[in-house]
Amino acid sequence: MVGHLNRGRQFYFGDNATMWMTIWNLDGHPKLHHFLWKACTGSLAVKGRLVERHVASEGMCELCGAESESIIHTLVECPEIASVWEKSLFSSLLNEAPRSSFGECFAWLCLKMDREKILNCATIMWVAWAFRNSVGFNEPWCELQQGVEGYSRLVREYRMYAATVFRRQPVQTVPSSREWRPPAA
Ligand SMILES: [Zn+2]
Repeated sequence: MVGHLNRGRQFYFGDNATMWMTIWNLDGHPKLHHFLWKACTGSLAVKGRLVERHVASEGMCELCGAESESIIHTLVECPEIASVWEKSLFSSLLNEAPRSSFGECFAWLCLKMDREKILNCATIMWVAWAFRNSVGFNEPWCELQQGVEGYSRLVREYRMYAATVFRRQPVQTVPSSREWRPPAA
């Protein structure tokens, strides 16, 4: 039990603390935060995970046919979203990033980029997830690049809205481990 708690503490406040604080402080849409939490904690419902949990019988990526759909595959590696990454500023950095899990990859990116770039990069990951879901639900987007532009606009507009509405509130820059808990997966 203690070992389990220590592992949890290490996951949230140890080597990955920078990543969690970066996500916490991202100036993005609440849905983007929620998506990132799920992706970094390994709890996005990708096919590979559903097979592990015996919820699905096959874990193939519906976009490219890869054998086991993992979170890092869907958000970063899937050839079907490669064109978006290739056109982005993040292509060479992603090629260097560790790939053992999405959480490890994103934690590494958080150490390499400023908050503005992380927000843009996370928005593309959010687009990749929405695109994958559009195919999974049989309503595939016609134009992936339009999705990138639409989601980027959503993030920018939310930011302007938040700046107006929350301007008078104090900005909490460092979450307190006593007051703050990561959301349930
Ligand atoms: Zn794929």
